[in-house]
Amino acid sequence: MKSDRRKLTIAIDGPAGAGKSTVAKLLAEKLGYAYVDTGIMYRALAWAAVKQGIVPDRDDLVAQLVTDCKLSFKPDGNQFSVFSGAEDITPQLRTPEISHYSSVYSALPAVRHYLVKLQRQLGQAGGVVMEGRDIGTVVFPEADYKFFLNASPEERGRRRFNELEDDESQVKLDSVIKQLNRRDKQDSERRLAPLRQAPDAALIDSTRLTIEQVLDRMLQLIKP
Ligand code: C5P
Repeated sequence: MKSDRRKLTIAIDGPAGAGKSTVAKLLAEKLGYAYVDTGIMYRALAWAAVKQGIVPDRDDLVAQLVTDCKLSFKPDGNQFSVFSGAEDITPQLRTPEISHYSSVYSALPAVRHYLVKLQRQLGQAGGVVMEGRDIGTVVFPEADYKFFLNASPEERGRRRFNELEDDESQVKLDSVIKQLNRRDKQDSERRLAPLRQAPDAALIDSTRLTIEQVLDRMLQLIKP
């Protein structure tokens, strides 16, 4: 049966640990849309740069890396995977080291230019829930729905801390909160596409909300 429902573009932005990924995946599943995790795209570029020993102040080498790297990004239902050649590197991209470097390399024009273009291609047909830092402000300023998801630094740190694997449990909650704050500060203060709420985005503070409650608030606003 042919559906005449419009395929919407939904942007979810916000700082680290606000719950964007979890809710974006659930929303994509609920609407039958593709899920695009732009953070993991920046992580992948940082991974490639670190692997090749390319320092961020070598603009020429970073620009070369961006064109030469054999990374590919595959949306698949509510999963979003990254491949280097034939290898699925997604599980390697969530380490604290890559979190740190993703924020460093994401400030570089060559990196943003390349990834924003890809993100626009991935979302151009609509029917997508895309999460990141600049989706509603830069990647899709005309998105049908924009959300800015936030939570207190303590709550975001606690959520990140609870996600850590057992072998990382010697890490202190305090240091997780500090790292998160440092990354958000860096992301908010950079010149290009800083982390910022779009003026027309709906703000949701998830500090005292369950994921289901956040999802409900979004679904109340979305009219397919
Ligand atoms: O969302 P996630 O924590 O995986 O993002 C990792 C880093 O990638 C962020 O700290 C930020 O520096 C960068 N990023 C960005 N723009 C986006 C998504 C992520 O600059 N749209």
